Amino acid sequence: MTSSDTQSTPSQTAAAMKPSPARTTHLLSALTSINSRIAHTTTTHSIRKPIRLVAVSKLKPLTDIIALASPPAVNNPEDRRPHLHFGENYVQELLEKSRLLPSDLQGKIRWHFIGGLQSNKAQTLAREVRGLWAVESVDSVKKANLLDKGRGERIDSCTSKDQEGGGGGGGGSGGTEEDGQLNVFVQVNTSGEESKSGVEPKSPELLELCRHIRDQCQHLRLRGLMTIGAIARSQATTAETENEDFQCLKDTRDWVARELGLGEGQQLELSMGMSEDFEAAIRMGSDEVRVGSTIFGQRPPKAEARVLPDKDDEGNK
Ligand SMILES: *Cc1c(COP(=O)(O)O)cnc(C)c1O
Repeated sequence: MTSSDTQSTPSQTAAAMKPSPARTTHLLSALTSINSRIAHTTTTHSIRKPIRLVAVSKLKPLTDIIALASPPAVNNPEDRRPHLHFGENYVQELLEKSRLLPSDLQGKIRWHFIGGLQSNKAQTLAREVRGLWAVESVDSVKKANLLDKGRGERIDSCTSKDQEGGGGGGGGSGGTEEDGQLNVFVQVNTSGEESKSGVEPKSPELLELCRHIRDQCQHLRLRGLMTIGAIARSQATTAETENEDFQCLKDTRDWVARELGLGEGQQLELSMGMSEDFEAAIRMGSDEVRVGSTIFGQRPPKAEARVLPDKDDEGNK
């Protein structure tokens, strides 16, 4: 991911941004398969709430996102709805992707930042990414404050642009995502692994952070809790033994809700479940699953990832 990618001329960019028909067909069918597995799980377990699917596109080219978000009719004979929620792990990559999106998708994609967040990038993330819908990896008061500040700056700059442009023209049908609060999930380290970030479950620190976001961060909305969990535990999950990480996040969420005195309409969501374990997560009450490799395939090493595909490897992905 070099920042020179962002300096491509518009014509190069437009040509480079057409997903190949073969890749588009492949991605649409992978997405359909995940959606049916989600539907099957909810039906089987009488779960009535909608489950949000975040397609985790980190280290994958922008063309993959375009293929799912605006599939050409010819690849989409069943007229599936565009997929709009995408997850990214790296601030620089997300900045480039959000800037390079074709204009018909600008403001439509709902980006989820799900990666390890460094304080020094939090404010930029919230201020610069158009369509940033949620940051799911919040684990400190300091980062929450910086996101809040960045979101405030974004709202200010959008408002002043509106005024310059004579107000209210195209874009928003009464309140775009941009004017509103940024959704945040507090990341909880349910597995206690040192390699994982996140706040300790049911800790005073977690409670203080949740309370701080709710009471002190006017541009943030405390949407829920997120966990990644240990791979070993998801592999050990069977129909009889529930995944301990998912159980822990659920208990922690109920505890936070009680301690903060949250009412019916303020319920906190659970963001848990990835390629290997999203069905188990849904059974445990997940509201949102984040699925990457089962849709997009194996990811390249970070050093080899490209936002726009190289000219000479067209079509062989
Ligand atoms: C990469 C990633 C995912 C997706 O993982 P897959 O196993 O590829 O589905 C989900 N959540 C987070 C936080 C991630 O970093």
